[in-house]
Amino acid sequence: AAATTPRRQSPAGAGSPSQRDARWGDTSSYGARKKHRVFCQLPNSDWALCTVITTSGDDSVLKLPEGKVLRLKTESLEAANPEILDGVDDLMQLSYLSEPSVLYNLQYRYTQDLIYTKAGPVLVAVNPFKKVPLYGNEYIDAYRNKTKDSPHVYAIADSALREMKRDEVNQSIIISGESGAGKTETAKIAMQYLASLGGGGGIEYEILQTNPILEAFGNAKTLRNDNSSRFGKLIEIHFSTTGRICGAMIQTFLLEKSRVVQCAVGERSYHIFYQLCAGAPASLRDKLNMKKADEYKYLKQSCCYSIAGVDDAQMFRTVTEAMNIVHISKEDQDNVFTMVSAVLWLGDVSFTVIDNENHVEIVVDEAAETVARLLGCSIEDLNLALSKRHMKVNNENIVQKLTLSQAIDTRDALAKSLYASLFEWLVEQINKSLSVGKRRTGRSISILDIYGFESFDRNSFEQFCINYANERLQQHFNRHLFKLEQEEYVEDGIDWAKVEFEDNQNCLNLFEKKPLGLLSLLDEESTFPNATDLTFANKLKQHLNNNSCFRGERGKAFAVRHYAGEVAYDTSGFLEKNRDLLHMDSIQFLAKCKSSLPQMFASKMLSQSDNPLPVPYRNSAADSQKLSVAMKFKGQLFQLMQRLESTTPHFIRCIKPNNLQLPAIYEQGLVLQQLKCCGVLEVVRISRSGYPTRMTHQKFARRYGFLLLEDVASQDPLSVSVAILHQFNILPEMYQVGYTKLFFRTGQIGKLEDTRNRT
Ligand code: ATP
Ligand code: MG
Repeated sequence: AAATTPRRQSPAGAGSPSQRDARWGDTSSYGARKKHRVFCQLPNSDWALCTVITTSGDDSVLKLPEGKVLRLKTESLEAANPEILDGVDDLMQLSYLSEPSVLYNLQYRYTQDLIYTKAGPVLVAVNPFKKVPLYGNEYIDAYRNKTKDSPHVYAIADSALREMKRDEVNQSIIISGESGAGKTETAKIAMQYLASLGGGGGIEYEILQTNPILEAFGNAKTLRNDNSSRFGKLIEIHFSTTGRICGAMIQTFLLEKSRVVQCAVGERSYHIFYQLCAGAPASLRDKLNMKKADEYKYLKQSCCYSIAGVDDAQMFRTVTEAMNIVHISKEDQDNVFTMVSAVLWLGDVSFTVIDNENHVEIVVDEAAETVARLLGCSIEDLNLALSKRHMKVNNENIVQKLTLSQAIDTRDALAKSLYASLFEWLVEQINKSLSVGKRRTGRSISILDIYGFESFDRNSFEQFCINYANERLQQHFNRHLFKLEQEEYVEDGIDWAKVEFEDNQNCLNLFEKKPLGLLSLLDEESTFPNATDLTFANKLKQHLNNNSCFRGERGKAFAVRHYAGEVAYDTSGFLEKNRDLLHMDSIQFLAKCKSSLPQMFASKMLSQSDNPLPVPYRNSAADSQKLSVAMKFKGQLFQLMQRLESTTPHFIRCIKPNNLQLPAIYEQGLVLQQLKCCGVLEVVRISRSGYPTRMTHQKFARRYGFLLLEDVASQDPLSVSVAILHQFNILPEMYQVGYTKLFFRTGQIGKLEDTRNRT
């Protein structure tokens, strides 16, 4: 699928005050008093913090930070928090939780390299796009010894560890965010913290070294991220009885294999291709008949061969060194690179037309010869696999010649499945090497680094799967955080009316319902030989038009109302990608190859297929008994959710502050969209409808006690607190007194702060 610049939906009318969601409506006359700080919206729809000079009639005269004065309608202003709340490290501490307040607070911190902020139980991480001095042993020790407690990935990893030991419950760290937001870096930072505990025999180091390997084979430069993960990943880190790392297990999800044969201009294919071209030592280069990256057709089409600041040759050495460390033998490494080279050369295999029906044969040239040699087959076998197809028609075996475009598709399908098999095989080898020994306690911390919600100009099957996964994860997120919030109130013994939160069950039903859900209908259509993307789209419209989460669009398109906004999908290629058939001829071809890996790949493919008999007609019902991509993904996802349900989750939401991958640029609109998409504002909203400001009795008494008219020095903190509440006429429905803390509704602390500052 051609990548395009993201066109974000703007759910709930991001930005404009007129469209602003009522639930954010914090505007109050309180905000427009003289000398008060308020937010006003500039023509570019960014919010600016300014001070009120005067208010007359409906208008207010305001002073902007740079000194400019302007007049605006008072009702368009948003109240700002008192200065003492500037840059608080938990958004929950803000009295006003309006969009501009949240944006301002994150930005205030970001400009000081404080990239981590809590949003209640969630950690928000804003990508700095530069080195920030927040990591390394000194910091790790500080978080371990609790001498630091500001929000940090280390703090999250540390609480995961503590809770694992304390509660004897497995933990998970769930990292989400859009491409380039920093998920993979964040996952590595968490892994570093856990690894710093040490293990035994260097297992923790081995675990860290899986990163360069998986990134080489599964990451690529895209328009959005120079090191974009093209697969989802869960790494489960196991701990021994002594609380040390004793092993790990990696599961991957849905590698984007189309990238191997095509990618958009300005993007690259998987890093390993370029690393091998640039970094293979002479002997390996000769053995694999390597060319330069810009001489391979598969790599040439995107006109992009290097990444600023990255030395592919050096990375090749890093990757092979990492392979050594995770015990992938030299021989296996050679086999791996043989496959990488074979895939590249396969792209250079060309065809000549041999008759006037456009039937073809392969051209016997350097490309064909090299592929045959690397895979360990004869030129004839290769030709047969790429230019002919065995079919059974009326119970009779016949051989069909392929046309040029069929032959090219067959070749590309072979390249894609070779690469995907190679990736799977590598993960298996890594897992073998990291598998836990007898010391295993069964306790683990899992780190999930998975693609975030995607909405582009053109959305295809990949976005469909990714967004489905995000609906599932969002449900997990909602349920859990809702529960947590409730638990804190109950723990502190306060009265609390249940708060409803936006449930995405309807959207999940749209995907999962049988037999009339998106996935079932897709699978059903995929089994019909004569189905097309158009018949699929029509079928959806026929059965789902009454579903409130579904909207039929013209032609081959349909739209889904996701929790993060509406996304229009183009069904072009859906059936093909969902069937993902490698023709039985190709599998049999691989099985006959003399090289060890192709044979292994073939037997794996045969064992995964429910129907191992050669059924050559690609559209026949029997062939499609192979699990479809969507069904396999759904299965993986259910398994993942099951696993996560049995853990205590810790959520990290990564935010990309600009699309340029540059430091120090904070685009409010972009940040806001992401905060909404990943549900952070939603969490804050849930908290806001309860009692977002909490302060212990002691702290409250200390901070405001001096405002009391009568002398209370001898009284206990709770009595002092209650006296303050009475003196300042804080209405009973605006607060709750818990066993240890006072809970306030939004805005209440602001009033006390004002008085405190005036005295
Ligand atoms: P994708 O979904 O495309 O895989 P991602 O969310 O995994 O994206 P990363 O690859 O983790 O994004 O981050 C993109 C880039 O942002 C990194 O290559 C790095 O340059 C920068 N970056 C992210 N987090 C940090 C950080 N904590 N410190 C410094 N730079 C960072
Ligand atoms: Mg990533």
